[in-house]
Amino acid sequence: MSDKRIYLSSPTMHGEELKYIHEAFDTNWVAPLGPNVNEFEKEVAAYVGGGYASALSAGTAAIHLALIIAGVKRDDVVFAQSLTFSATVNPIVYVGAKPVFIDSEKDTWNLDPDALRKAFEKYPQCRVVLAVNLYGTPAKLDEIRAICDEHNAILIEDAAESLGSKYKGRHTGTFGDLGIFSFNGNKIITSSGGGMLYSKDEEAIKRSRFLATQAREPERHYEHKEIGYNYRMSNVVAGIGRGQMKHLDEHVSLKKDIYMTYRKAFEDIEGVTMNPYGAESEPNFWLSCMTLDKSLSVKPIDIMLALEKENIETRPIWKPMHLQPVFKDCDLITAEMERVSDKIFDTGLCLPSDIKNTAEDMDRIISLVRGVFGR
Ligand SMILES: *Cc1c(COP(=O)(O)O)cnc(C)c1O
Repeated sequence: MSDKRIYLSSPTMHGEELKYIHEAFDTNWVAPLGPNVNEFEKEVAAYVGGGYASALSAGTAAIHLALIIAGVKRDDVVFAQSLTFSATVNPIVYVGAKPVFIDSEKDTWNLDPDALRKAFEKYPQCRVVLAVNLYGTPAKLDEIRAICDEHNAILIEDAAESLGSKYKGRHTGTFGDLGIFSFNGNKIITSSGGGMLYSKDEEAIKRSRFLATQAREPERHYEHKEIGYNYRMSNVVAGIGRGQMKHLDEHVSLKKDIYMTYRKAFEDIEGVTMNPYGAESEPNFWLSCMTLDKSLSVKPIDIMLALEKENIETRPIWKPMHLQPVFKDCDLITAEMERVSDKIFDTGLCLPSDIKNTAEDMDRIISLVRGVFGR
């Protein structure tokens, strides 16, 4: 076994982050808020093409506030992509609403527009839809947007994994009425932990800043008319984020190289496919994933075990939310005979996608994987 651990996706720091942290210390702006927070918000909003953003303690906090701002109330139905990380859907339960899960389509692994149409037939009262750009691959955002508009529903776009991805030339996170980003440790860039709520609607972002600072009314004394949260990002954390933003495009380009290297390396193995994306999309390729045709004798677990033995990290595909014990009573809407998300979960895995991997690391991973297939 090699001593060197190869990671799925670990933080990549550049040193520039320290400049902003030092600034924060030198000016004693270590408390929540401060110049780094304001600038980080402006930089992210400008990067995705304008609009407004509020820096928060986590992507999960951003989803929670998005649901409150969208007006979701106790017992409301919220449609959500089933194939995702639990952080997408947990906030639906925080506000007392009921998640109804939507299956994925095969082309991008994201929310299936046909299933979404079916869901509106069954639950015409639904007013909020949560779509995800899984592993950095844009969903069928135009179609999803049009269906939401047809039903007067608010679209919340979980772009936690897809900062830097584009759909039809436009950045993901900007297709929803509200979009969210995450800067958690393993994402495309990291602030060590944190998130952002994004919108073109300045009022919505102002409201999120208000709710995230304990819903304190603008009075000299402490006046509260609503329940608030302590969800703001600290000025130190925002400094790390600012340093990372300078390297976002470079990270995307390195992630793309990883994906293309894998795709080329496995193209001769029949029944092996990399995670698909649409021709209209430029994903950020956050994680490179592979699926194995059910007819193959090699299963995802065989590859995971072979790499684990060599100190190389892999991960299963997110287990769909409708298969989670905690959500066993929730409905799932699917448009296909066979559930697409179940099939992706059963046949897929995430390959090491760390941008610090060297060419030798990639060669080693590839020959180990090929070895499992007897190549
Ligand atoms: C990481 C992630 C989140 C949550 O972001 P945090 O910053 O970790 O709270 C939400 N949705 C998806 C799809 C994610 O991958």
